[in-house]
Amino acid sequence: MITEQLMPGGVKDPRVLEAMGRIPRHRFVQKGLEDQAYLDRPLTIGQGQTISQPLIVGMMTQALALTGNEKVLEIGTGSGYQAAILAELAREVYTVERLSTLSIAARRVLYRLGYHNIEFKIGDGTLGWQEKAPFDAILVTAAGPKIPETLKEQMAEGGRMILPVGSMESQELIFIKREGSQWKMRPLSECRFVKLVGEEGWSGE
Ligand code: SAH
Repeated sequence: MITEQLMPGGVKDPRVLEAMGRIPRHRFVQKGLEDQAYLDRPLTIGQGQTISQPLIVGMMTQALALTGNEKVLEIGTGSGYQAAILAELAREVYTVERLSTLSIAARRVLYRLGYHNIEFKIGDGTLGWQEKAPFDAILVTAAGPKIPETLKEQMAEGGRMILPVGSMESQELIFIKREGSQWKMRPLSECRFVKLVGEEGWSGE
């Protein structure tokens, strides 16, 4: 996965490569799919949701340029795989998931793997996590029609955010950096994610 997918795909940050090399991705996929965990593809994690392919996870994580001291917010806990990577690379991770079944399963796996710097919340992540804001980095793993204003407001000065935005069929990964009262945006690549469902995302099912 590291030498055949991440490195040729453009993941260069040694800390990201090291963390992804260490984390057992097969522990986060559904029973019976363990032998596919390291392949270059997204995998189903139940409840109609998916864990992104390794290269997307690597590119999004790398874009946040984490050094180890950050407070990070993740929207869409899903399997907990991305949260594990963030927990290795930053100081504290706050992760929000709207589906309780997924949040509870992720919590169990991450606890067993020994992570103690992750806090979980079940709810609508398009509204962020107000009590814990501001965040040095925000990573959104489901795609909505627009950039949620609330998440922009919860970025710290100098903070970074990466999120997929677009229609149901085609989306783009957007990188945002907050500089004072300005939010500088840069499109990174085309992508395809599951739906971000919530007040500042898509409505209902
Ligand atoms: N980061 C996950 C990927 C999960 S897929 C991993 O590493 O496995 C995206 C997740 O976002 C799904 O579990 C979906 O239920 C969740 N989601 C969608 N809309 C959401 C919202 N408004 N708030 C929180 N989670 C949301």
